[in-house]
Amino acid sequence: MTLTTTEFKTEFTKVFEALYASNIKDASSVQQYNALGNFIKVYSSENWNQTNQLYLDNQVKQVYYFSMEFLPGRMLKSNLLNLGILDTVRTGIKEMGLDFEEIVGSEVDPALGNGGLGRLASCFMDSIASLGIPGNGNGIRYRYGLFQQKFVDGYQVELPENWLRNGNVWEVRKENKAVTVRFGGEVYLKEDGKNKLRPIYSNTQNILAVPYDTGMIGYENDVVNNLRLWSAEIPVEEEINYKTVADREVVNQITEVLYPDDSNYEGQLLRLRQEYFFTSAGIQSIVRFFKKQQLPWSEFSNKIAIHVNDTHPALCVPELMRILLDEEGLGWEQAWNITKRSISYTNHTIMQEAMEKWPVQMVQELLPRIYQIIEAINQRHIDKKVPLYGEELTYRTTIISDGYIKMANLAIIGSHSVNGVAQLHTDILKEETLRDFYEMYPSKFNNKTNGITQRRWLHLANEKLTHLIDEKIGKEWKTNPAELRQFKAYSKDKDTLSCLADIKLENKQRFAAYAKEKYAIELDPTALFDVQIKRLHAYKRQLLNALHILDRYLKIKDDPSLELQPRVFIFGAKAAPSYIYAKQIIKFINALAHLINNDPDVGDKMKIVFVENYGVSLAELIIPAADISEQISLAGKEASGTSNMKLMLNGALTLATLDGANIEIKDLVGEENIFLFGLTNEEVNQLNREGTYSAKRVLDENERLNRVLECLINGMIPDIEEEGRVIYDSLIRYNDEYYVLKDFESFVAAQERADKLYQDKEAWNQKALINIASSGPFSADFTIMRYADEIWNVKGKAIKNRSFLKGNQPI
Ligand SMILES: *Cc1c(COP(=O)(O)O)cnc(C)c1O
Repeated sequence: MTLTTTEFKTEFTKVFEALYASNIKDASSVQQYNALGNFIKVYSSENWNQTNQLYLDNQVKQVYYFSMEFLPGRMLKSNLLNLGILDTVRTGIKEMGLDFEEIVGSEVDPALGNGGLGRLASCFMDSIASLGIPGNGNGIRYRYGLFQQKFVDGYQVELPENWLRNGNVWEVRKENKAVTVRFGGEVYLKEDGKNKLRPIYSNTQNILAVPYDTGMIGYENDVVNNLRLWSAEIPVEEEINYKTVADREVVNQITEVLYPDDSNYEGQLLRLRQEYFFTSAGIQSIVRFFKKQQLPWSEFSNKIAIHVNDTHPALCVPELMRILLDEEGLGWEQAWNITKRSISYTNHTIMQEAMEKWPVQMVQELLPRIYQIIEAINQRHIDKKVPLYGEELTYRTTIISDGYIKMANLAIIGSHSVNGVAQLHTDILKEETLRDFYEMYPSKFNNKTNGITQRRWLHLANEKLTHLIDEKIGKEWKTNPAELRQFKAYSKDKDTLSCLADIKLENKQRFAAYAKEKYAIELDPTALFDVQIKRLHAYKRQLLNALHILDRYLKIKDDPSLELQPRVFIFGAKAAPSYIYAKQIIKFINALAHLINNDPDVGDKMKIVFVENYGVSLAELIIPAADISEQISLAGKEASGTSNMKLMLNGALTLATLDGANIEIKDLVGEENIFLFGLTNEEVNQLNREGTYSAKRVLDENERLNRVLECLINGMIPDIEEEGRVIYDSLIRYNDEYYVLKDFESFVAAQERADKLYQDKEAWNQKALINIASSGPFSADFTIMRYADEIWNVKGKAIKNRSFLKGNQPI
């Protein structure tokens, strides 16, 4: 199927006129966007339909990726790219006298996720489709996405994100595929006359789950997979039971809004409702599809792989059991075998405050039958494991304890695979966090280092760099990212290095234009652009970054004639609305920015830009403009990180602790092409064990640091009286939980090394090039090949270069 520009213009005009019955030139860019989206939907509909049909006809094994969050970013351009018609359409639009970039920019960026976890799910959707793997996403169609962030006097203010205001061209409502999800009421088991116990429900609240499907278009391979997001509605036949606004509200609330917590657990009833809602709906629709094929139950796990992204969908385990036992009449052992063989689980964090656990009573009341099943799973686990491992160890692994249901324990016991998301993270799971489980089930544990799609994060976000790479090594890297390593051959080629520098400069100019227009800040695009973009969290240590900035500022104030490498510090971060400390850090950084940006002594030596409302679209603007990638979490705390991979792919040099995937970046680029600093995980553990760390002592021994900290409380930074004191206290009175002060000196030293290297443009560019050329192994294509091969046991039509499947190293 090839499309000419002329054909495109004709077809597009037809679609537009059918939609709006008016002239396209008079239309708003939103209308133009909407029409283009519709054109794409029509253009790809045959492939969508055929992909489905092919999977059905061949009865292939399919994956269902259950995730509470998806963070897809704008889809127009990436759909055009993957359909192979980006250039044709862009030319056609231009010939029609329309503004392509304006049309692209009028798509809202659907923020149906918080950060890394949701973005990972969306990168995986792209890779699964692009590898031709039969795979489906399963999640929630939130009416409101992650809040919009504004700064008012430097404080974060949250506004609702009404992303559906203009409709959503990509989705298709499928009310014919709706299912009913049951909450509450009472349940008891009754003999059914055939020697089987059947549950009898009464007084339940029945909610209709209606799917909205979005095509996940593979890269130039005619594959269109499905992302299914569920919306809660009142069942038509039960309208009578929902007379008041308040009654109806309870139903609407289930899919009303995404919880804005990242790496943090909130034990709210509504959240539990959300989790069961999309899990139950997804599992019901899988079973329905399986039954259509009229295969024996023994075939279930040969045809279906269910992946649980973090513990939010862990109720997949008891829900699948419930359906198999209660509705299909299978015996416990058979149902349990099917469940375990079908389900696999990814752990995303080791932080205690992020571990999900639900009060027993809450589960009992909201999901009485599910609770009975969890209890039975728990009891069987105890009965089976006590004789093998003794009481002590076994009771440390139970699902129910201290009045709570531990979701990670449920996911581990009810699945056949448990993976961490970077080598260090998986090692920590095995040796520390989940060591009891590792002793019981050593073969369940495996590592799958996260990845990112090079199609969105390089091809689309950085088209100029894409052209350079295409010109040097050809285009194969788009489907086989291992090929990026060929680019290394140009690391000493002066022409290539200078092209690389020109491209970086243009990308920095593009960001500078945005900063000027949006924030009226003038940036010097030749300055070093230093970027930290990620959720605001104490463990990610934006504070350490800010203290370094403050230290530089003091240096300039001491001697305004000092020659310093000019830098632009870019921050992007949302804080959970309930995370007061994180919001205080935001206020502190904004106040610091205001002070520094307006100080004539500083001039172009330093500028700070804290962008509002960081999300995928801003990431696409910032990442290509970055010189330094700040990955400075306390070692052992960041499970993997993925912005580190996106930034490396775009030629930023990483300045990092040995945490998460930073370690694997170091292994790939070599220590001479990364700036490392700080405590290692082992050193952190040792300090924790010894318990002798004194932040006060570190402060007393470091005059420079002392001066920096004084600025938090001496009024030098206007308008942070409260925040400055709280932050100061967190470091001194509460002894610096995240070792910010301990790592300060080595952080500053790494920054100085970076400054020095930046003076030597050629050496810098060479390292940038090596970073780009070494980033292939972080393609989500490889991550997904390993999931497909080692966990899901599914085949894809485009899985090649299988030697990559052996560990994380390039061939
Ligand atoms: C990649 C990405 C993240 C994850 O960033 P980390 O630095 O790995 O935490 C978060 N938000 C958005 C919008 C992203 O694109």
